[in-house]
Amino acid sequence: MKKSRIEYARHGIQITLSIFLLYIGWQFYKFVMYYEGQMSTFSSRPPSVEGFLPISALMSLRLWLSSGMLDPIHPAGLVIFIAALLTAFLLRKGFCGWLCPIGALSEALGIAGAKVGVQLAMPKALDVILKAIKYLLLGFFAKIIFLDMPVQAVYFFLQNDYNKISDVKMLKFFINLSGTGLAVLVILVVASVFFKHFWCRYLCPYGALLGVLALVSPMAVQRDQSYCIDCKKCDQSCPSALKVSSTKRVYSPECVGCLNCVDVCPKEKALEIRLGKWSVSSKVFGAMVMVIFFGVILWAKTYGYWETSITLEEYSKLIPLSRLMGH
Ligand code: SF4
Ligand code: SF4
Repeated sequence: MKKSRIEYARHGIQITLSIFLLYIGWQFYKFVMYYEGQMSTFSSRPPSVEGFLPISALMSLRLWLSSGMLDPIHPAGLVIFIAALLTAFLLRKGFCGWLCPIGALSEALGIAGAKVGVQLAMPKALDVILKAIKYLLLGFFAKIIFLDMPVQAVYFFLQNDYNKISDVKMLKFFINLSGTGLAVLVILVVASVFFKHFWCRYLCPYGALLGVLALVSPMAVQRDQSYCIDCKKCDQSCPSALKVSSTKRVYSPECVGCLNCVDVCPKEKALEIRLGKWSVSSKVFGAMVMVIFFGVILWAKTYGYWETSITLEEYSKLIPLSRLMGH
């Protein structure tokens, strides 16, 4: 199927952001290697790497909600997390469809699979069972962090040395990938080629949380039956394999707000993204996702809640010790 105009725009944003994150990753690698004695030139640590620490961010959120305290260890992680939650609350899973680099990679692999003609439809019963996995993972983490752990335990976890260098541990996990880790990665890549959005649809607890919030989002794709000609182009374009053509309003927590369906629909007014009774154009929707997400980050930077309180002296002591700390 031909790419829609909004898909071009969305993919452009996803690619730009992915390149930016690769650059961030490289900067962070140099920062860590400097303290490991592998590089002679100092590189500063980019706070955005904390976006890859969702468990720590969930704990920071718990601390904030329970005590009003803002975690000074990984503030950028919490800010990015809140920005994604806010986007989902207002604009469905716009973060997944427009900004998430893992979502972008998952989608790209699915597109590659479709291009070479190996994409498969997941059998319905298996699809339902597999979709439950990400909600179970979300429930598991939410239970431990919000119900089982007293707030003091959350506070002490956030303050401990392991959490302080959890970003360093994450980097090392990927650069020294074990045989098992590599096998899991290969399985995920292959599965994503054969099945659309495999990671996002079945395994990502972050996306599951955004999907739950998106259920109360005032925005949704809506179909007006009186204009619809039942061509099913919307169904074919949906990366989440939703049956848009047989619904009046897409309530599904799986909708990533990509708006492919709206853009490919040949009949004016048959399919629109609406805020109440107002129709919102795809371009405006995409712009809103970016303004809300990056607006929160800009706000946090302006008010000084972005940089970690960990000093360079602490990093110089902790990073060489990181290999002694288990996962
Ligand atoms: S229903 Fe439309 S907006 Fe939602 S994921 Fe499918 S194609 Fe994208
Ligand atoms: S693409 Fe538009 S006209 Fe075709 S089935 Fe979907 S809503 Fe109806």
